[in-house]
Amino acid sequence: MSATEYIASIGLEVHVQLKTRTKMFCSCPAHREDDPPNTNVCPVCLGLPGALPVPNREAIRKTVKTGLMMGSTISLRSRFDRKNYFYPDMPKNYQITQQERPLCIGGGLEIEVNGKKKYIRLNHIHQEEDAAKITHLEHSSEIDYNRASTPLMEMVTEPDMSTPDEAIAFLTALREMLIYAGISECDLERGHMRCDVNSSIRPAGTDRLGVKCEIKNMNTFRGIHRALEYELRRQQSVLESGGTLRQETRRWDDEAGATFPMRSKEYAHDYRYFNEPDLPPVVLDQATIDQWRTEIPELPRARRARFVSDYGLPEYDAGVLTADRAIADWYEAAARASKNPKAVSNWVMGELLRALGEKGLTIADAKITPAALASLLDLLDKKTINGPAAKEVFQILFDQGGDPAEIVKAKGLAQVSDTGAMETFAEQAIAANPKSVDDYRSGKQAALMYLVGQVMKLSRGKANPQLAAEILRAKLAP
Ligand code: ZN
Ligand code: MN
Repeated sequence: MSATEYIASIGLEVHVQLKTRTKMFCSCPAHREDDPPNTNVCPVCLGLPGALPVPNREAIRKTVKTGLMMGSTISLRSRFDRKNYFYPDMPKNYQITQQERPLCIGGGLEIEVNGKKKYIRLNHIHQEEDAAKITHLEHSSEIDYNRASTPLMEMVTEPDMSTPDEAIAFLTALREMLIYAGISECDLERGHMRCDVNSSIRPAGTDRLGVKCEIKNMNTFRGIHRALEYELRRQQSVLESGGTLRQETRRWDDEAGATFPMRSKEYAHDYRYFNEPDLPPVVLDQATIDQWRTEIPELPRARRARFVSDYGLPEYDAGVLTADRAIADWYEAAARASKNPKAVSNWVMGELLRALGEKGLTIADAKITPAALASLLDLLDKKTINGPAAKEVFQILFDQGGDPAEIVKAKGLAQVSDTGAMETFAEQAIAANPKSVDDYRSGKQAALMYLVGQVMKLSRGKANPQLAAEILRAKLAP
């Protein structure tokens, strides 16, 4: 048992690729990394002498909207700075970023881990441009400038997270929000979200933060979780063995499952920031910001709460349904058309998500409309059809679309509630199963269910099972 308990402080610097048509300072198409190398380039993003940058208004709008969603203060006047460094991924030998006056200041995001809520503060969000992609070969390197100068926003949190789970909860909530609001696709495999992860530990009962280690350029949630677990353990064992921690930059080796110090050359932090002379300050007026605020959709958290109150759904259902904006929209359209929003929820979470998953489709590909599901469930409610028939109709609607009532008619799926026909089926079932009849009469309730099953079979699945049970009970009464 260790004598001292340690508390961890984790902070994140998250780079998010903004969903824009063009790059940050030129009109080259953005997000076309899969095109042949160096085809989406121009004098500006290649850093040719004399080429002048022009800020991408759409990128600024998306960054400001993000700040508004997170409760940041939006700077009416911010500016760009040069971060100078020599590395071929940045052809200008500097990155245009924001150092002194970022677009968004403060704000934060609430996370929940194991039912416990916690507010993670944001220090700021700044606007910048991405670097080119370098592939190191054995004796040379290849550079592709298609990604160079793609718009990024960098979100810097306060060191408010204290476990790897909290860090992942923050990133998950952030990603969900950014996708919802159309800010970024946040495709992790394509590097749309990349993190520098800062961590330190300090003995419990002390206030001063410990020595910080930074792990650079992480792009999977699983990797971040593992790297943090490793790093916090490593820091603790250094302290427990009487050593001292150095402030340093480390890199995560996924195969080794460990972090290693980076050579000091790799993080020489003398960026000699200075004001970007080729760009005027970014000046925004309150009316524009107010306009952008109106464009923010209802976010998952608020929508979840509203699904609970408006449709009487359990928290669990509301969470599943709002995780994806298109599914939430679809559910809402169906719930509004139906008298039974909870039944709609069951069918969306069950049949619809299952069917989509099986075929690898998104909701936009499904042929069934929200109105069709609502009227299908209405037929079920009114006992025009029974459960198995409803599932059969659902599958037809899913694959081909159409009107539930017409499908029921065409397929002859309407429930048999006609007492005459049911009586005949019940008599046949009784005559053919004397053993079950004896069992039921001697008190075995399960035997009745068996006979109901036989009636269902005789009716080829169309019998109303409640009615079948009622008739059988009456016939078998002493
Ligand atoms: Zn360009
Ligand atoms: Mn950055």
